[in-house]
Amino acid sequence: MICMSASRTYKDYYSILGVSKNASQKEIKDAYRKLARKYHPDANKNDKETEEKFKEISEAYEVLKDPKKRKQYDEMGSFYGSFGPGAAGWQNFTRSSADFSFDNISDLFDLFGTGTRRTSKHVRGDDIAYNVHLSFDEALKGKTVQFTVNKEEACPTCGGSGAAPGSGRKVCPTCGGSGLIADNQGFFSITKPCPSCRGQGSVVEKPCPVCHSSGRLIRPKTETIKIPAGVADGSKLKFKGRGQAGQNGGPPGDLYIIAKVAPHPYFKRKGSDVLLDVPITFVEASLGANIEIPTVDGNVSLKIPAGTQDGQTFRLRDKGAPKLKGSGRGDMLVTVRIDVPKNLTANEKELLIRFANSRKDNPRQIFKAGVR
Ligand SMILES: [Zn+2]
Ligand SMILES: [Zn+2]
Repeated sequence: MICMSASRTYKDYYSILGVSKNASQKEIKDAYRKLARKYHPDANKNDKETEEKFKEISEAYEVLKDPKKRKQYDEMGSFYGSFGPGAAGWQNFTRSSADFSFDNISDLFDLFGTGTRRTSKHVRGDDIAYNVHLSFDEALKGKTVQFTVNKEEACPTCGGSGAAPGSGRKVCPTCGGSGLIADNQGFFSITKPCPSCRGQGSVVEKPCPVCHSSGRLIRPKTETIKIPAGVADGSKLKFKGRGQAGQNGGPPGDLYIIAKVAPHPYFKRKGSDVLLDVPITFVEASLGANIEIPTVDGNVSLKIPAGTQDGQTFRLRDKGAPKLKGSGRGDMLVTVRIDVPKNLTANEKELLIRFANSRKDNPRQIFKAGVR
Protein backbone atom coordinates (compact mmCIF):
# COMPACT_ATOMS: atom_id res chain seq x y z
CA MET A 1 0.00 0.00 0.00
CA ILE A 2 1.33 3.43 -0.95
CA CYS A 3 0.49 6.38 1.24
CA MET A 4 0.50 9.72 -0.52
CA SER A 5 -0.47 11.83 2.46
CA ALA A 6 -2.22 11.51 5.78
CA SER A 7 -5.43 12.97 4.43
CA ARG A 8 -5.54 10.91 1.25
CA THR A 9 -4.62 7.36 2.02
CA TYR A 10 -4.63 4.96 -0.86
CA LYS A 11 -6.97 2.09 -0.27
CA ASP A 12 -6.82 -1.13 -2.16
CA TYR A 13 -10.50 -1.67 -2.83
CA TYR A 14 -9.85 -5.07 -4.40
CA SER A 15 -8.17 -6.46 -1.31
CA ILE A 16 -10.84 -4.87 0.92
CA LEU A 17 -13.46 -6.91 -0.96
CA GLY A 18 -11.09 -9.89 -1.23
CA VAL A 19 -11.22 -10.11 -5.01
CA SER A 20 -8.54 -10.02 -7.68
CA LYS A 21 -7.86 -6.99 -9.87
CA ASN A 22 -9.49 -8.71 -12.84
CA ALA A 23 -12.54 -9.94 -10.96
CA SER A 24 -15.84 -9.80 -12.87
CA GLN A 25 -18.58 -7.36 -11.82
CA LYS A 26 -20.55 -10.34 -10.53
CA GLU A 27 -17.64 -11.54 -8.39
CA ILE A 28 -17.33 -8.05 -6.92
CA LYS A 29 -21.05 -7.91 -6.20
CA ASP A 30 -21.07 -11.36 -4.57
CA ALA A 31 -18.01 -10.52 -2.47
CA TYR A 32 -19.58 -7.26 -1.31
CA ARG A 33 -22.85 -8.90 -0.33
CA LYS A 34 -21.07 -11.60 1.63
CA LEU A 35 -18.98 -9.05 3.53
CA ALA A 36 -21.87 -6.61 4.03
CA ARG A 37 -23.86 -9.32 5.77
CA LYS A 38 -20.95 -10.17 8.03
CA TYR A 39 -20.06 -6.60 8.99
CA HIS A 40 -23.45 -4.96 8.90
CA PRO A 41 -23.71 -2.63 11.95
CA ASP A 42 -27.16 -3.94 12.77
CA ALA A 43 -25.66 -7.37 13.35
CA ASN A 44 -22.79 -5.97 15.39
CA LYS A 45 -24.20 -3.58 17.94
CA ASN A 46 -21.81 -0.95 19.32
CA ASP A 47 -18.81 -2.45 17.61
CA LYS A 48 -16.77 0.47 16.28
CA GLU A 49 -14.28 -1.70 14.47
CA THR A 50 -16.96 -3.60 12.59
CA GLU A 51 -18.73 -0.35 11.77
CA GLU A 52 -15.51 1.01 10.26
CA LYS A 53 -15.04 -2.21 8.34
CA PHE A 54 -18.56 -1.98 6.98
CA LYS A 55 -17.95 1.57 5.82
CA GLU A 56 -14.75 0.47 4.13
CA ILE A 57 -16.51 -2.36 2.31
CA SER A 58 -19.33 -0.05 1.17
CA GLU A 59 -16.79 2.49 0.03
CA ALA A 60 -14.88 -0.10 -1.98
CA TYR A 61 -18.02 -1.49 -3.54
CA GLU A 62 -19.29 1.98 -4.36
CA VAL A 63 -16.32 2.44 -6.67
CA LEU A 64 -15.81 -1.06 -8.03
CA LYS A 65 -19.45 -1.81 -8.85
CA ASP A 66 -19.45 1.04 -11.38
CA PRO A 67 -17.33 0.05 -14.39
CA LYS A 68 -16.64 3.70 -15.20
CA LYS A 69 -15.44 4.51 -11.67
CA ARG A 70 -13.56 1.23 -11.46
CA LYS A 71 -11.63 2.15 -14.62
CA GLN A 72 -10.87 5.58 -13.20
CA TYR A 73 -9.72 4.00 -9.96
CA ASP A 74 -7.53 1.48 -11.77
CA GLU A 75 -5.91 4.27 -13.74
CA MET A 76 -5.47 6.84 -11.01
CA GLY A 77 -4.69 4.57 -8.08
CA SER A 78 -3.66 6.68 -5.12
CA PHE A 79 -5.01 9.87 -6.65
CA TYR A 80 -8.52 8.57 -6.63
CA GLY A 81 -10.67 10.84 -4.46
CA SER A 82 -11.36 10.43 -0.78
CA PHE A 83 -14.42 8.35 -0.35
CA GLY A 84 -15.77 7.08 2.83
CA PRO A 85 -14.94 7.57 6.50
CA GLY A 86 -12.64 10.56 5.99
CA ALA A 87 -15.10 12.35 3.76
CA ALA A 88 -17.70 14.80 4.95
CA GLY A 89 -20.61 12.84 3.54
CA TRP A 90 -20.15 9.99 5.93
CA GLN A 91 -21.15 11.92 8.98
CA ASN A 92 -24.47 12.69 7.35
CA PHE A 93 -24.87 9.18 6.20
CA THR A 94 -24.30 7.45 9.51
CA ARG A 95 -25.80 9.81 12.04
CA SER A 96 -27.51 13.06 11.28
CA SER A 97 -29.58 12.42 8.19
CA ALA A 98 -33.24 12.45 9.10
CA ASP A 99 -34.23 10.47 6.05
CA PHE A 100 -31.77 7.76 6.59
CA SER A 101 -30.49 5.55 9.34
CA PHE A 102 -28.75 2.24 9.56
CA ASP A 103 -32.06 0.72 10.47
CA ASN A 104 -33.11 0.92 6.85
CA ILE A 105 -30.14 -1.05 5.65
CA SER A 106 -31.53 -4.18 7.25
CA ASP A 107 -33.84 -4.29 4.24
CA LEU A 108 -30.76 -5.21 2.24
CA PHE A 109 -30.76 -8.59 3.89
CA ASP A 110 -34.37 -9.17 3.07
CA LEU A 111 -33.50 -8.40 -0.50
CA PHE A 112 -30.64 -10.89 -0.63
CA GLY A 113 -32.90 -13.61 0.64
CA THR A 114 -30.05 -15.88 1.66
CA GLY A 115 -31.55 -17.52 4.70
CA THR A 116 -29.99 -14.98 7.04
CA ARG A 117 -33.07 -12.85 6.63
CA ARG A 118 -33.23 -10.42 9.50
CA THR A 119 -36.25 -8.93 11.10
CA SER A 120 -36.33 -5.22 10.44
CA LYS A 121 -35.54 -3.08 13.43
CA HIS A 122 -38.46 -2.00 15.56
CA VAL A 123 -39.11 1.71 15.39
CA ARG A 124 -41.03 3.43 18.17
CA GLY A 125 -43.88 5.67 17.03
CA ASP A 126 -43.61 9.43 17.42
CA ASP A 127 -45.05 11.25 20.40
CA ILE A 128 -47.98 13.59 19.87
CA ALA A 129 -48.41 16.81 21.84
CA TYR A 130 -51.80 18.46 21.99
CA ASN A 131 -52.89 21.67 23.72
CA VAL A 132 -56.25 21.53 25.49
CA HIS A 133 -57.89 24.82 26.43
CA LEU A 134 -59.84 24.82 29.69
CA SER A 135 -61.63 27.37 31.82
CA PHE A 136 -60.40 27.89 35.38
CA ASP A 137 -63.37 25.89 36.63
CA GLU A 138 -62.88 23.02 34.18
CA ALA A 139 -59.27 22.73 35.30
CA LEU A 140 -60.45 22.35 38.92
CA LYS A 141 -63.18 19.85 38.19
CA GLY A 142 -61.63 17.87 35.34
CA LYS A 143 -63.16 17.38 31.92
CA THR A 144 -63.48 14.77 29.21
CA VAL A 145 -62.33 16.26 25.94
CA GLN A 146 -62.56 15.01 22.39
CA PHE A 147 -60.29 16.15 19.62
CA THR A 148 -59.05 14.98 16.27
CA VAL A 149 -55.38 14.28 15.56
CA ASN A 150 -53.74 13.11 12.37
CA LYS A 151 -52.41 9.67 13.10
CA GLU A 152 -50.15 7.58 10.95
CA GLU A 153 -51.10 3.98 10.41
CA ALA A 154 -49.89 1.13 8.25
CA CYS A 155 -51.57 1.31 4.84
CA PRO A 156 -54.27 -1.40 4.85
CA THR A 157 -54.01 -1.91 1.07
CA CYS A 158 -50.35 -2.97 1.06
CA GLY A 159 -50.04 -3.89 4.74
CA GLY A 160 -47.32 -1.26 5.14
CA SER A 161 -44.97 -2.67 2.50
CA GLY A 162 -45.56 0.18 0.03
CA ALA A 163 -45.82 -2.29 -2.84
CA ALA A 164 -49.01 -2.74 -4.86
CA PRO A 165 -50.84 -5.95 -3.89
CA GLY A 166 -49.27 -8.91 -5.65
CA SER A 167 -46.00 -7.14 -6.38
CA GLY A 168 -42.71 -7.20 -4.45
CA ARG A 169 -39.46 -5.30 -4.22
CA LYS A 170 -36.59 -5.16 -6.67
CA VAL A 171 -32.97 -4.06 -6.53
CA CYS A 172 -32.76 -0.29 -6.72
CA PRO A 173 -31.69 0.54 -10.28
CA THR A 174 -29.95 3.75 -9.16
CA CYS A 175 -27.50 2.27 -6.67
CA GLY A 176 -27.55 -1.37 -7.68
CA GLY A 177 -28.61 -2.46 -4.22
CA SER A 178 -25.82 -0.90 -2.13
CA GLY A 179 -28.04 1.94 -0.88
CA LEU A 180 -25.17 4.31 -1.56
CA ILE A 181 -24.21 6.58 -4.41
CA ALA A 182 -21.12 8.65 -5.00
CA ASP A 183 -21.39 12.36 -5.48
CA ASN A 184 -18.47 13.22 -7.75
CA GLN A 185 -16.77 16.55 -7.40
CA GLY A 186 -13.76 16.36 -9.70
CA PHE A 187 -11.23 14.01 -8.19
CA PHE A 188 -13.11 14.02 -4.92
CA SER A 189 -16.14 11.97 -4.28
CA ILE A 190 -18.46 11.72 -1.32
CA THR A 191 -20.59 8.71 -0.59
CA LYS A 192 -24.18 9.42 0.33
CA PRO A 193 -27.42 7.49 0.72
CA CYS A 194 -29.12 6.75 -2.56
CA PRO A 195 -32.06 9.17 -3.03
CA SER A 196 -34.07 6.71 -5.13
CA CYS A 197 -34.32 4.05 -2.42
CA ARG A 198 -33.40 6.30 0.56
CA GLY A 199 -30.49 4.01 1.31
CA GLN A 200 -32.53 0.84 1.43
CA GLY A 201 -31.02 -0.70 -1.69
CA SER A 202 -34.39 -1.84 -2.92
CA VAL A 203 -37.47 -0.19 -4.33
CA VAL A 204 -41.02 -1.44 -4.81
CA GLU A 205 -41.75 -3.03 -8.17
CA LYS A 206 -45.07 -1.27 -8.42
CA PRO A 207 -46.06 1.42 -5.92
CA CYS A 208 -49.17 0.87 -3.83
CA PRO A 209 -51.88 3.05 -5.40
CA VAL A 210 -53.24 4.10 -2.00
CA CYS A 211 -50.13 5.18 -0.07
CA HIS A 212 -47.84 5.82 -3.08
CA SER A 213 -45.21 3.43 -1.72
CA SER A 214 -44.79 5.10 1.68
CA GLY A 215 -46.53 2.17 3.39
CA ARG A 216 -48.24 4.59 5.76
CA LEU A 217 -51.35 6.67 5.72
CA ILE A 218 -52.22 9.72 7.74
CA ARG A 219 -55.79 9.69 8.92
CA PRO A 220 -57.73 11.96 11.27
CA LYS A 221 -58.58 10.09 14.44
CA THR A 222 -60.83 11.20 17.26
CA GLU A 223 -59.26 10.91 20.69
CA THR A 224 -61.27 10.97 23.90
CA ILE A 225 -59.19 12.00 26.88
CA LYS A 226 -60.28 12.34 30.48
CA ILE A 227 -58.44 15.30 31.96
CA PRO A 228 -58.14 14.80 35.71
CA ALA A 229 -59.38 17.41 38.16
CA GLY A 230 -56.69 19.79 39.35
CA VAL A 231 -54.63 20.53 36.23
CA ALA A 232 -53.04 23.97 36.15
CA ASP A 233 -52.00 26.14 33.23
CA GLY A 234 -49.01 24.42 31.61
CA SER A 235 -49.63 21.00 33.22
CA LYS A 236 -48.29 18.25 30.94
CA LEU A 237 -50.11 14.94 31.05
CA LYS A 238 -48.68 11.80 29.52
CA PHE A 239 -50.95 9.13 28.04
CA LYS A 240 -48.70 6.19 27.39
CA GLY A 241 -49.01 4.41 24.09
CA ARG A 242 -51.52 6.79 22.56
CA GLY A 243 -49.12 8.53 20.16
CA GLN A 244 -48.26 7.47 16.62
CA ALA A 245 -48.15 3.75 15.85
CA GLY A 246 -44.70 2.11 15.81
CA GLN A 247 -43.14 0.61 12.69
CA ASN A 248 -42.06 -2.98 12.18
CA GLY A 249 -43.73 -4.00 15.39
CA GLY A 250 -42.15 -1.16 17.39
CA PRO A 251 -44.09 0.30 20.34
CA PRO A 252 -46.38 3.29 19.84
CA GLY A 253 -45.34 6.78 20.97
CA ASP A 254 -47.04 8.63 23.80
CA LEU A 255 -49.68 11.33 23.75
CA TYR A 256 -48.92 14.47 25.73
CA ILE A 257 -51.72 16.81 26.71
CA ILE A 258 -50.70 20.31 27.66
CA ALA A 259 -53.34 22.18 29.67
CA LYS A 260 -53.92 25.80 28.71
CA VAL A 261 -56.05 27.22 31.51
CA ALA A 262 -57.79 30.54 31.01
CA PRO A 263 -57.19 33.12 33.75
CA HIS A 264 -59.92 33.73 36.34
CA PRO A 265 -61.06 37.27 37.17
CA TYR A 266 -59.85 36.96 40.78
CA PHE A 267 -58.59 33.47 41.62
CA LYS A 268 -55.04 32.48 40.79
CA ARG A 269 -53.34 29.09 40.96
CA LYS A 270 -50.02 28.10 42.45
CA GLY A 271 -49.73 24.34 42.09
CA SER A 272 -52.73 22.92 43.91
CA ASP A 273 -53.17 26.09 46.01
CA VAL A 274 -55.68 28.75 45.02
CA LEU A 275 -54.70 32.35 45.70
CA LEU A 276 -57.06 35.25 46.34
CA ASP A 277 -56.41 38.91 47.13
CA VAL A 278 -59.13 40.41 49.35
CA PRO A 279 -59.50 44.17 49.87
CA ILE A 280 -60.50 45.23 53.43
CA THR A 281 -60.97 48.69 54.92
CA PHE A 282 -58.41 50.03 57.37
CA VAL A 283 -61.20 50.07 59.98
CA GLU A 284 -61.82 46.31 59.42
CA ALA A 285 -58.07 45.74 59.65
CA SER A 286 -57.80 47.78 62.86
CA LEU A 287 -60.89 46.57 64.69
CA GLY A 288 -61.15 43.08 63.21
CA ALA A 289 -64.20 41.81 61.30
CA ASN A 290 -65.97 38.80 59.91
CA ILE A 291 -66.00 39.20 56.13
CA GLU A 292 -67.54 37.10 53.37
CA ILE A 293 -65.14 35.91 50.68
CA PRO A 294 -65.53 33.72 47.59
CA THR A 295 -63.85 30.30 47.41
CA VAL A 296 -63.91 27.70 44.63
CA ASP A 297 -66.66 25.95 46.69
CA GLY A 298 -68.78 29.10 47.17
CA ASN A 299 -68.75 31.92 49.70
CA VAL A 300 -67.39 31.47 53.22
CA SER A 301 -66.95 33.73 56.25
CA LEU A 302 -63.38 34.73 57.14
CA LYS A 303 -62.45 36.19 60.52
CA ILE A 304 -60.06 39.13 60.19
CA PRO A 305 -58.37 39.62 63.58
CA ALA A 306 -57.94 43.13 65.02
CA GLY A 307 -54.63 44.67 63.99
CA THR A 308 -54.31 42.81 60.66
CA GLN A 309 -51.60 44.29 58.43
CA ASP A 310 -51.66 44.90 54.68
CA GLY A 311 -50.36 41.84 52.80
CA GLN A 312 -51.09 39.40 55.62
CA THR A 313 -52.06 35.94 54.32
CA PHE A 314 -54.62 33.55 55.79
CA ARG A 315 -54.59 29.87 54.91
CA LEU A 316 -57.90 28.06 54.40
CA ARG A 317 -57.05 24.35 54.58
CA ASP A 318 -58.32 22.04 51.82
CA LYS A 319 -60.05 24.85 49.92
CA GLY A 320 -57.63 24.66 46.99
CA ALA A 321 -57.58 22.55 43.84
CA PRO A 322 -57.48 18.73 43.83
CA LYS A 323 -53.89 17.47 43.94
CA LEU A 324 -52.77 15.88 40.66
CA LYS A 325 -50.28 13.68 42.46
CA GLY A 326 -51.62 11.90 45.50
CA SER A 327 -54.99 12.60 47.03
CA GLY A 328 -56.62 15.50 48.80
CA ARG A 329 -56.70 19.16 47.93
CA GLY A 330 -54.44 22.14 48.18
CA ASP A 331 -55.20 25.17 50.33
CA MET A 332 -56.62 28.57 49.63
CA LEU A 333 -54.31 31.46 50.48
CA VAL A 334 -56.16 34.71 51.17
CA THR A 335 -54.02 37.85 51.15
CA VAL A 336 -55.60 41.02 52.49
CA ARG A 337 -55.02 44.39 50.83
CA ILE A 338 -55.92 47.45 52.88
CA ASP A 339 -58.13 49.80 50.94
CA VAL A 340 -57.35 53.42 51.82
CA PRO A 341 -60.44 55.70 51.67
CA LYS A 342 -60.34 58.63 49.25
CA ASN A 343 -62.48 61.78 48.87
CA LEU A 344 -62.99 62.31 52.62
CA THR A 345 -65.59 64.83 53.81
CA ALA A 346 -64.55 67.65 56.18
CA ASN A 347 -66.15 65.78 59.04
CA GLU A 348 -64.30 62.52 58.24
CA LYS A 349 -61.00 64.42 58.00
CA GLU A 350 -61.58 65.95 61.42
CA LEU A 351 -62.29 62.50 62.92
CA LEU A 352 -59.05 61.17 61.46
CA ILE A 353 -57.03 64.13 62.73
CA ARG A 354 -58.46 63.62 66.22
CA PHE A 355 -57.61 59.92 65.91
CA ALA A 356 -54.05 60.67 64.79
CA ASN A 357 -53.51 63.19 67.61
CA SER A 358 -54.60 60.63 70.20
CA ARG A 359 -52.06 58.09 68.89
CA LYS A 360 -48.86 59.94 67.95
CA ASP A 361 -47.82 56.85 65.94
CA ASN A 362 -44.54 56.96 64.07
CA PRO A 363 -44.16 53.79 61.96
CA ARG A 364 -40.87 55.18 60.53
CA GLN A 365 -39.00 55.14 63.83
CA ILE A 366 -37.35 51.94 62.48
CA PHE A 367 -35.15 54.25 60.35
CA LYS A 368 -33.93 56.28 63.38
CA ALA A 369 -30.73 54.21 63.61
CA GLY A 370 -29.78 55.76 60.26
CA VAL A 371 -28.61 54.10 57.09
CA ARG A 372 -25.49 52.02 57.42
ZN1 LIG B 1 -30.86 3.04 -4.38
ZN1 LIG C 1 -50.12 1.13 0.61
